[in-house]
Amino acid sequence: MLDSLRSIIQEVGAAATLSEALKVAVARVRADTGADVCSIYLGDEERSELVLLATEGLKSEAVGSVRLSWEQGLVGLVAQRAEPLNLGDAPSHPRYLYFPETGEEQYHAFLGVPVIHHRRVLGVLVIQQHALEPYSEDIVTLLLTIAAQLAGVLSHADVDSALKAVDETSAEGERLYRGQPGAPGVAVGTAVVMRPPADIGSVPERSSDRPDLELKRFDKAVQLARVEIGEMMERLSESMPSADRALFDAYLMMLDSGSFIGAARSIISDESQWAPGALSRVVRQHARAFEAMDDPYLRERAEDVRDLGRRILGHLEQQRPKRRSFPKETVLIGEEISASMLAEVPPERLAGVVTIRGSRTSHTAILARALGIPAVMGAEEMSLGRLDDGRIIADGYSGRVYIEPGREVLREYRRLQKEEAELTGDLLGLREQPCESTDGVAVPLHANTGLLSDIGPSLNSGAEGVGLYRTEFPFMIRESFPGEASQADIYRQVLEAFAPRPVTMRTLDVGGDKALPYFPIVEDNPFLGWRGIRITLDHPEIFIGQIRAMLKADAGLGNLQLLLPMISSLDEVEESQALIRRACMELEEEGMACLMPRVGAMIEVPSAVFQARELAQRMDFLSIGSNDLTQYLLAVDRNNARVADLYDALHPAVLRAVYHVVEAGRAEGKPVSVCGEMAGDPAAAILLLGMGIDSLSMSASSLLRIKWVIRSFSQKAAAELLEEALSLENSTQVRMMLNGALEEAGLGGLVRAGR
Ligand code: PEP
Ligand code: MG
Repeated sequence: MLDSLRSIIQEVGAAATLSEALKVAVARVRADTGADVCSIYLGDEERSELVLLATEGLKSEAVGSVRLSWEQGLVGLVAQRAEPLNLGDAPSHPRYLYFPETGEEQYHAFLGVPVIHHRRVLGVLVIQQHALEPYSEDIVTLLLTIAAQLAGVLSHADVDSALKAVDETSAEGERLYRGQPGAPGVAVGTAVVMRPPADIGSVPERSSDRPDLELKRFDKAVQLARVEIGEMMERLSESMPSADRALFDAYLMMLDSGSFIGAARSIISDESQWAPGALSRVVRQHARAFEAMDDPYLRERAEDVRDLGRRILGHLEQQRPKRRSFPKETVLIGEEISASMLAEVPPERLAGVVTIRGSRTSHTAILARALGIPAVMGAEEMSLGRLDDGRIIADGYSGRVYIEPGREVLREYRRLQKEEAELTGDLLGLREQPCESTDGVAVPLHANTGLLSDIGPSLNSGAEGVGLYRTEFPFMIRESFPGEASQADIYRQVLEAFAPRPVTMRTLDVGGDKALPYFPIVEDNPFLGWRGIRITLDHPEIFIGQIRAMLKADAGLGNLQLLLPMISSLDEVEESQALIRRACMELEEEGMACLMPRVGAMIEVPSAVFQARELAQRMDFLSIGSNDLTQYLLAVDRNNARVADLYDALHPAVLRAVYHVVEAGRAEGKPVSVCGEMAGDPAAAILLLGMGIDSLSMSASSLLRIKWVIRSFSQKAAAELLEEALSLENSTQVRMMLNGALEEAGLGGLVRAGR
């Protein structure tokens, strides 16, 4: 039974779409339980309606058309009670409801079990049979277990999308799909479906008699792709800060790389493989390597490799992608929208982006944020079939996508869009304004960066410096540890771009969920294991090399500050300081005048909270990493979707810990900042102002919004809200109270679409 259960769940989990998953589930459950019928009804407490979405045994025309409220029928009863119902003779039950289109009159036995996810009933799984006897205890248990596992593979978003997709009766053919918010804003426009120019994955292997000619043809295609990317960079140069074009530099780098282009050339010459076959093999190998990486940012790079491969293949096949015309408010839609597809649209015509795959961390989302274009990622249930040239709305706040929206929805979104534009315009006016509360308390806002492409938006946002430069990225995109000189090069670009404003560089923080491909760490509990400062203190050569690179980069600038991640004891701080001093001395011995930078510790584990005073005595400043601090205080894995509802930095326990650290810093006369996501949350920013935080660091896109919050409240009022928040019992109450305060102050537009 266990084997059967495991294989059902595996098959369901492997299905590409929700409807396929449901079909697999009903077929397998019917076969494995020996039932005559298996069906799945999905719904939602909020909709109070259950819809038959898949069946094996009932008539197929009933799918999508059988709908019943929670008060109706046996299925409704199961959903209402959230308990199984096992009947030998269903038609004799007072709640039995007969739907002629199902042909179910012939079945007597009925077993329905609820599908429950996060305590909410998502639907009902039903089996039926001719025989006039209830199901055995074993079958009831099996079905309950399958339903519980099924709930894990479904999500509310999936269910909602599936329900909308079968909802043919909605106003004027309007369809609603849900994805993840990718970039804030609202787009209303015309859908333009982008399809990859050539299918790089399905090129056959073929040998060639003339590898020399194949090599020539390959080099020419690479050269044409290089020119094409150059043209795209040119086209974007007006609308995109120069540093952001680094995204395209990555493409050009790949075109020059030995492991990519060189590898394809070797396959052509050594194996006499034809050029498209060699290209396809190398692209697939590289894409697979990226996809196997733990870091979500690097996983997304697989798509860049494929995109580049398609471009070269297009030239090999002499199908130079035609430039098409784009409507005025183009909303690009695709399985995936690559950076180069985005670049094909004249910037003034690009209104929004929607993808079927991908996530918040995909290149498209990063780029859309940099360009200030609303984006929705991962609208999985949307099919590209008849979307071209249709009207579309993409809500980058909620992740909603409307296809052929009805008049009401359209009018509402046009209104929200107008308000959005006014809000964004108003916020731009804050760029040069000081970030201080209405009673004159200054809270400098800094930017979090990590990619060279972040520099542009960070500078544009009016950041007063960099509060957190995550040095992991230059380490992640290489095939081995970067040397001192190449690190110094990268750090110099960041320090120079912001000088004389301070740049806080964090020493290497890998381990946990951030792995280096060339430095694998396998542990049972990686978040409690070898990560952050623990690794670099065990490898002083890595630590000293990085510090030396940073100090060299700082020569003549003097705006470098150092930040130590994952500090959990005072010893770690003292050892780090000794190594930093050693690096400085070494450089002086080598003839470089070395300026000892200010050094701070990150407060991101509970022990550091309780030793915050001792840490403050030894450090120049403290910086609260609220992402990890929330994870460790609440014992909630920050990356686990199953417990995501429990993860909230507004939990009163987290607020007390943060407040304790701020007070410890104050008592020792050392500044304290917050550099986790909490700093960019408008509700949390009020509380941090109330605590007397010295500065905040966040992604550039949040900066002006938070400035607006700080400039709208007095520290006195914020301190009163803080006191109230600390008296509340849970994060939901805290958030509701603060959202109310934001609405009341006229800042509701920061937490929803519209003003
Ligand atoms: C944090 O933990 O809050 C933090 C800023 O570091 P990271 O998100 O890189 O772990
Ligand atoms: Mg952290």
